[in-house]
Amino acid sequence: MAKSLPLRSEVPVEDTWDLRSLFSSEEEFYQALSALEEHANSFQQQYSGKVADASSIIEALTAYAALYEKLVPLSTYASLVLSTDQTDDAAQMLSSKFGSVAAKISSKLAFLNSELLALPEEMLQQAMNESEEFKVYLEKLIRKKQYQLHPEVEKTLAAYSPTFSAPYGLYNTTKMVDMKFDDFEVNGKNHPLSYVSFEGDWEAEPNVELRRAAFNAFSAKLKDYQHTTAKTYDMQLQTEKTTSDLRGYDSIFDYLLFNQEVDQSLYNRQIDLIMKELAPHMRKYAKLLQDVHGLGKMTFADLKISLDPSYEPEITVEESKKYINEALAIMGPDYLEMVDRSYSERWIDFAQNTGKSTGAFCSSPYGDHPYILISWTGRMNEVFVLAHELGHAGHFYNANREQNVFNARPSLYFIEAPSTMNEMLVANHLLESSNDPQFKRWVISSIVARTYYHNFVTHLLEAAYQRKVYERIDAGQSVNAGILNNLKRGVLEEFWGDAVEITPGAELTWMRQPHYYMGLYPYTYSAGLTISTQVSKRILKEGQPAVDDWIEVLKAGGTKTPVELAKMGGVDITTEQPLRDTIAYIGELVDELVKLTEEIKVK
Ligand SMILES: [Zn+2]
Repeated sequence: MAKSLPLRSEVPVEDTWDLRSLFSSEEEFYQALSALEEHANSFQQQYSGKVADASSIIEALTAYAALYEKLVPLSTYASLVLSTDQTDDAAQMLSSKFGSVAAKISSKLAFLNSELLALPEEMLQQAMNESEEFKVYLEKLIRKKQYQLHPEVEKTLAAYSPTFSAPYGLYNTTKMVDMKFDDFEVNGKNHPLSYVSFEGDWEAEPNVELRRAAFNAFSAKLKDYQHTTAKTYDMQLQTEKTTSDLRGYDSIFDYLLFNQEVDQSLYNRQIDLIMKELAPHMRKYAKLLQDVHGLGKMTFADLKISLDPSYEPEITVEESKKYINEALAIMGPDYLEMVDRSYSERWIDFAQNTGKSTGAFCSSPYGDHPYILISWTGRMNEVFVLAHELGHAGHFYNANREQNVFNARPSLYFIEAPSTMNEMLVANHLLESSNDPQFKRWVISSIVARTYYHNFVTHLLEAAYQRKVYERIDAGQSVNAGILNNLKRGVLEEFWGDAVEITPGAELTWMRQPHYYMGLYPYTYSAGLTISTQVSKRILKEGQPAVDDWIEVLKAGGTKTPVELAKMGGVDITTEQPLRDTIAYIGELVDELVKLTEEIKVK
């Protein structure tokens, strides 16, 4: 099953994305980069020390927005070329070059926010009254005022920004460039292993012997790099702690949640309620997997198998179009046109190759169309992954058109709502399309094993672990591999109880997740899915009016807080109710799986 992967240079061009609408060549990229550096110089000369009334505020912000719009395609290109092959020297150089120039530019531009915040608040208010355009930007800036440092300090910190983001680069280099997996052997036969093939194939391998052997080989290689990875992570954590202290936040949690525009109660609620109330349902699901597969014991390495591996339809990229189109048709013709273009104009990178980033993501540069990275394994499951990424694409396709460059992006808390919404739409569509119990069971198990497992279990357990890590850091301590392993194992044991044996190697799972370099990100998956579960139920019940509300939510981009966005979609996240309802719904799905399994057995 898991084959060894081709080099990037060997994959067919039609499986790759077309980056030419960003830049047609590296040369063009480098030219645009040096032009932008010049642009930043002249911006600084023109506006530094000269913003002194409402109209000059608006003028400077207009010029700033224009400059920022030119930065976006550069940063997108630099990260996208690297994401498809982290071993590519030219891409590494290009990305480093961009990082150092971008730091110079942001250091040069740091004066603007400092000077704006030094002005009397009434003057900023006046600018907001005169121009609706920059209202949200200025409001968000004023909110930051008490955490702003001396202008020279802000400038210096901006100049050091590549250093501050170095841990993430180091993490990726260790993981994607240095870490080489040897073949593993089962019954005299060798099997190739890589990060991508482990997470894409081996983890879900139906043969128990192969699956567990792959897990052991994978874990053994992770272990070789645990200390470097832990040290890298500690560097990230200490930088965040120092920043939080310097800026005067009460705690590192307040610092990391500040831009998300939610308070600690919304953050803690997701972790506390799910750890406690979802655990019994998921243990029941683990037990079902164990029974169906006739496993003597259920281990951590067995959690990703599908309920019915003999019924995992295979699907090509071409065939996926039909499902995606049918499932997302409810979102309307404009949305479907975007889906269509994403295939025909090669916005999507489907290829599987060495050095490619694991998982899937969507990048939606302002002023251009979205780009999606995915490694297509040919499993039907992939339809859910693609629908998810198209959900991000559809979000910014709308928000980028309706909002200016500063207002398009909403809080991280909300980011995973539109994406998981599309997974719900795919599931709803598939459930309507057939009454065959085996197919129904496959669909429901896909929602449980993928949508909810991924967002409510995998990422949530990461969040629970991450909270323990940050509590330590906030108390002035540091971490190392041993501490991280213990924290991770503790969370897994707490959640799974007696239902799953947390086998050696499971504690190293913290090494696999790049999200730890993105602040309090992991918990937002369950937050987003809580909102989308409730809205998708509304769509099933009410139809068009609920869809219309949702499209408006997408268009609002970052002009509203998560609480306001959810409210526009008809969900009140100031209470526990939506989360409780969602957990109960997952419980119902698991019960339905148990029932369908009985039905299929009797047949
Ligand atoms: Zn996502």
